[in-house]
Amino acid sequence: MDTTSFVKKTIAFETVEPSLTPPPIKASLLKKPRLAGGKSRKRDIPEGLWTRCPGCSEMIFDKELDENLKVCPKCGHHFPIGAHERIHSMVETCTFEEMDAEMTSVDVLNFKGVATYKSKLEAYKKNTTLKDAVVTGLCKIGPHRVALGVMDFNFLGGSMGSVVGEKLARLIERGSEKECPVVIISTSGGARMYEGMFSLMQMAKTAAALAYHARRHLPYVSVLTHPTTAGVMASYASLGDLMLAEPGAMIGFAGPRVIKDTTQAELPPGFQTAEFLLDHGLIDAIVSRKEMKQQLIEYLNFLGAGHKPAAAAS
Ligand SMILES: [Zn+2]
Repeated sequence: MDTTSFVKKTIAFETVEPSLTPPPIKASLLKKPRLAGGKSRKRDIPEGLWTRCPGCSEMIFDKELDENLKVCPKCGHHFPIGAHERIHSMVETCTFEEMDAEMTSVDVLNFKGVATYKSKLEAYKKNTTLKDAVVTGLCKIGPHRVALGVMDFNFLGGSMGSVVGEKLARLIERGSEKECPVVIISTSGGARMYEGMFSLMQMAKTAAALAYHARRHLPYVSVLTHPTTAGVMASYASLGDLMLAEPGAMIGFAGPRVIKDTTQAELPPGFQTAEFLLDHGLIDAIVSRKEMKQQLIEYLNFLGAGHKPAAAAS
C-alpha cells in the first residue's frame, strides 16, 4: 500500500515538472515562422511571371521564355507559341499582308452541347484576339516571297473548320497565282467536330488546292509543330514537298491509346514523336524554332533552284 502511495506522489511530481513539455512547444514555435516564411516567399512571386518547364522542371522567367521564342533556354523544350508571335519571329518586318483577316466561322449545324458552338466561338475570339485557328498572308522570308499560313492551337485546339480550310485553300491558290512557295505551319487537334461534315470537306479542298499548286511546279513546305494530329495531319499537313517538324512534336493521326487498342500491340518507344517519324522517313528534318527562319530560307533557295525566284523582283 505504501508503495502505491509513493508511486502516486512521484506521478504528481512528474506532472508538476513542466520542463519536459516546453521543448517541443519551442521547437514548433521555431518551425512555424519557417513555414510561414516559405509561404510568404511563394506569395512574393507574382503569378504568371514564371513557368515550370515540363522538359527539365526548371522555373523559367516568362520574359526570358518570350525572348527565346518560347523555347526553354535550359533543355530546349518547345512551348506552344501563338500564330502572330511566330509570324513575327519569321517574317521580314512589315512584309506580312494578311489575307481574309475578318473571315469567321458560322454555326451551320446549330450545334448544341455542354456549350453551344456560337458561345465557344465568341469566347475564343475574345480570349485569343484571333478570328479563327489560322492566320494567312503573303510575306517575305529572307529574300523569298512566300504564301504563309500559321495555325494557332489556342483557338479551339487549332481545329480545322470551314474557315481554316477556306483560308488555307485561298492562300494556296494565291501562292500558285503569284508563283511563290507555300509554307504552312500546322498545329491542330484535327477536324472541328462542331461543323461535322463541313470540317471534313476541308481535307479534300486543301489537298486539291495543293495538287494544283504542285502541277505548277511550285514548292510547298509543311512544318509540323506540337501537336499535329487527325484530319489536319491526314490532309495538307502531310502533303509537303518538304516536311519539317519542331523537336519533340507529337505528330500522328489517331492517338496512341486508340492505336494500341485497335492493333492490340505494344507501341514502340517514342511513337508519334517528330524524332521517331524522322527515323521512319515521314519527315525530312527536325528544325528548332530558333533556326526555323534561316533553315526555311536555305530550303527555299534549294527548292527554288529550278524555278524563277519570285523574290528577286522586289
Ligand atoms: Zn526545360
